[in-house]
Amino acid sequence: MKMVWKAALGAAAAAVGATVVKAAMYKPEVKEAKSFPAEAVDLDRFKRNLSDAIKIQTISDRDSDKVDWSKFEQFHSFLRERYPLIHQKLSLEIVGKASLMYFWQGTDSSLDPIAMLAHQDVVPISPGTESAWEHDPFGGEEADGFIWGRGALDIKNHLIGVMEAIETLLEEGFTPQRSIYILFGHNEEIMDRETSGATLMCQVLKERGVHLEAILDEGGAILPVHVGKLLDVNLAGVGIAEKGYADFEISIDAVGGHSSQPPKHTALGKMANVIRDLENNQFKAELTPMMQELFDRIGRRVCFPAKLITCNLPLLKPLVLEIMKQIPPAACMTRTTTGVTMASGSPAPNVLPQRATINVNFRIMPGETIADVEQHIRKVSSVKDIEVKLVKGKEPSAISPTDSKAFQAIEEICYGMNQKNLVAPYLVMGGTDACNYEAVCENIYRYSPYMVNTELLLTTHGTNERIPVDCLADGIAFFKRYIRAMCE
Ligand SMILES: [Zn+2]
Repeated sequence: MKMVWKAALGAAAAAVGATVVKAAMYKPEVKEAKSFPAEAVDLDRFKRNLSDAIKIQTISDRDSDKVDWSKFEQFHSFLRERYPLIHQKLSLEIVGKASLMYFWQGTDSSLDPIAMLAHQDVVPISPGTESAWEHDPFGGEEADGFIWGRGALDIKNHLIGVMEAIETLLEEGFTPQRSIYILFGHNEEIMDRETSGATLMCQVLKERGVHLEAILDEGGAILPVHVGKLLDVNLAGVGIAEKGYADFEISIDAVGGHSSQPPKHTALGKMANVIRDLENNQFKAELTPMMQELFDRIGRRVCFPAKLITCNLPLLKPLVLEIMKQIPPAACMTRTTTGVTMASGSPAPNVLPQRATINVNFRIMPGETIADVEQHIRKVSSVKDIEVKLVKGKEPSAISPTDSKAFQAIEEICYGMNQKNLVAPYLVMGGTDACNYEAVCENIYRYSPYMVNTELLLTTHGTNERIPVDCLADGIAFFKRYIRAMCE
């Protein structure tokens, strides 16, 4: 017996020892931090131009007749006036209603161009919330260390940052080897692929036989993450894929009649079973390779005792997945989500429904399709006489690689600028213009190089949207370095 214990203890000690060694060797993969020459940045001009850009109310609307197109014309003249060199040296075409396609010819036309994206439009202020704003939402005021207003974070900061970077590079006499497109859509916020300015611009590029080396669009920001002594990093979230979207209308027909003589189950009652089946039979959750890479990158940066756990992530996968499934913001990264959002029955309290209808909103994981979702609905519903109709849908995006020249450039620049920066490839939950360019580009990255904390990020599309002034200069420096890295 003693021998058995000894052997067991020995084995345990060996296992602990091996884990300690493994944890000690579990280090960030990033090589040395590259040092970059200082970049000239005209911060006062950036602040002034961002502030004035916010003042122009480029609000988009699903109904094109409701859009004040004169605001977009005004925005175009504003860009012409503020960025004279860009308008002198680059060609400009207006595509569709008001999308802007600039082209900066490089010296080597054998290289595929890159594209810098942003959108000109913003969302409106929700009626009734105007008075909750501490500063005029379209005033572009600078106060308390912020520039305030709609578009300050989504995404005039990015658009003006790109313009500032390019105007400054032109002032410095920079000539790119690789050509550069600047593509500013006019209706990203209405999320309609068919009428999207981005889709039209992609068509133009495709017709001209253009293939892009890489796209950089809005997406993640730099998020400071401090967890006690465990983790102290700035997560630079680079979106490498986007979830898809589908609204399905599910209906059940019945005879109807007076509610004084109801059947055992009305159409609405049967529909309750459909809802229960959908909610109880979620899509399969998975720790995708993308999530594993994210955890691995973070795991390598945590402090020593915690590393004993994080270096064993492959073993802990089932546990991590189980925990994530319980937390909705984490669960949505592991699977296609199911959200029952609307329901209707009869038009009056004393009338049995002749038709009950629900809308279910699905956010689809890359790798699955809208057709898979429809199949899932039919499979899990115990009620079989349902009508299933797709109301609106967008397939999930492809997944961009993390070993491309562009991703490596983003990573090197981020880390070089601040060794606390950790580039984190992630799955974008909302939509961007970028996915409309898949026909001409495989390396699509969604990243805005501004350090913004979670509290501020939540003001996007909400009240008191604002950006800290002290993160602006680094944004321009990032864009300049990215262009140099890709085009020099
Ligand atoms: Zn946006």
